[in-house]
Amino acid sequence: MARYTGPVCKLCRREGEKLFLKGERCFSSKCPFEKDRGYPPGEHGRMARFRRRRVSDYYRQLREKQKVRRIYGVLERQFRRYFREAERRPGMTGENLLILLESRLDNVVFRLGFADSRAQARQLVQHGHFVVNGRRTNIPSYIVRPQDTIAVREGSRKRKYFKERAKLLDESKVPDWLSLNADALSARVLKAPARENVDMNIDELLIVEYYSR
Ligand code: SF4
Repeated sequence: MARYTGPVCKLCRREGEKLFLKGERCFSSKCPFEKDRGYPPGEHGRMARFRRRRVSDYYRQLREKQKVRRIYGVLERQFRRYFREAERRPGMTGENLLILLESRLDNVVFRLGFADSRAQARQLVQHGHFVVNGRRTNIPSYIVRPQDTIAVREGSRKRKYFKERAKLLDESKVPDWLSLNADALSARVLKAPARENVDMNIDELLIVEYYSR
């Protein structure tokens, strides 16, 4: 299945909340939700806000699953694989799922501040700008582990993008499971992420219910 390449804001409008998929723009007045245009997409979307609608359990579960998939930019098949892996791991399946998603290399690059959005982080990784434990890694779904080091590749450091980016990096904004050395454009994974590190409004139990039907 092809990756979604349509209008990104439409995905937020479908979920009825800001998913912060576009970086800076999401915090500006250009966001449709800031202009009272956060209604669902489609011909009748505008009116849908005023319609009272009974929502089934299945609908809520499906929407939550889609929301998380869209936040992390993961396709359905891959997302299902993460869920099966989360089931195999000890502990709560829903939490395990979020921890797995949070441990993806593209998410880590985003969390470290090297990119404004996960989509941009994904592109940077795919273009081979990062090394993990000294090895060039261009797989956005790579799962980082404690003690892994992530750094901007030597050849990429001279690029204008990373020179500009280095000025914006803020070590204090990095989650406590990561440690950033802004001057060296590198970071270390201190521990596995915890549920509290997922700062979006997510009810993972609905996703567990969705896949347990
Ligand atoms: Fe979502 Fe960001 Fe678009 Fe707002 S600007 S609708 S938060 S992607």
